[in-house]
Amino acid sequence: MRLVLVGPPGAGKGTQARWVARYYDVPPISTGDIFRANVVNQTELGLEARKYMDAGDLVPDEVTIAMVADRLGYPDAAGGFLLDGFPRTRPQAEALDVILAELGTTLDCALELQINDYEVIRRLAGRRMCRRAHVWHVDFEPPTVDGVCDECGGDLFQRDDDHPATIRHRLDVHAEQTAPLIEHYRALGVLVQIRATGKVDEVTRRAIGALDTCGPRR
Ligand code: ADP
Ligand code: AMP
Repeated sequence: MRLVLVGPPGAGKGTQARWVARYYDVPPISTGDIFRANVVNQTELGLEARKYMDAGDLVPDEVTIAMVADRLGYPDAAGGFLLDGFPRTRPQAEALDVILAELGTTLDCALELQINDYEVIRRLAGRRMCRRAHVWHVDFEPPTVDGVCDECGGDLFQRDDDHPATIRHRLDVHAEQTAPLIEHYRALGVLVQIRATGKVDEVTRRAIGALDTCGPRR
């Protein structure tokens, strides 16, 4: 299964990526997580990306596309993958089509997680994560011990870009640059859309139900 998740920040892409990728036995690849790991490790890529991430802007296409092209060449992605947070612009979507064509394959599905801005703001304002990219929510998905990740025991923190003014800007960036990709994937005949509200496991069931109608049969 070769799959992309599309939806505004806070739609639950990272949360669902984990379960959906496990179901299809493909690696979840989050460009946001890769950038954040580079920021923590203070790599050249991280120092460059951070300027844009903190402001809620997109990292330039050349940088992002080169990073994804490299990642999709890893052996674990040969049999399929789930991209979370990429593509986010038309040039990125076109580059992905070219990368896949060069690998002799195509995308099976683009899954859109649909949610309104009000819900997104509630989700992002309460989001907490650990350094290993496990995601929690202070009200909706609280960890057992406040501030500690149930999965790895690491400290939970609030992302620098999950503050009200930056959230608003990221929603605008999404509406301007990413939402138009829905039409790109509709035209390619690979778009599936689901409502992203309700409990996490309900959304996962909805996602898998929709995805099983497209792409290769399991
Ligand atoms: P994205 O990757 O799309 O930015 P996340 O998966 O990080 O979104 O989810 C954003 C926040 O919303 C997180 O705090 C997460 O715990 C919470 N969340 C995710 N799915 C749900 C859900 N179905 N109901 C309530 N909260 C959710
Ligand atoms: P995310 O974790 O998906 O919310 O991404 C966090 C931040 O990383 C975004 O606000 C961007 O600054 C950057 N980023 C992640 N994916 C992309 C992408 N495909 N293109 C450009 N910037 C990205």
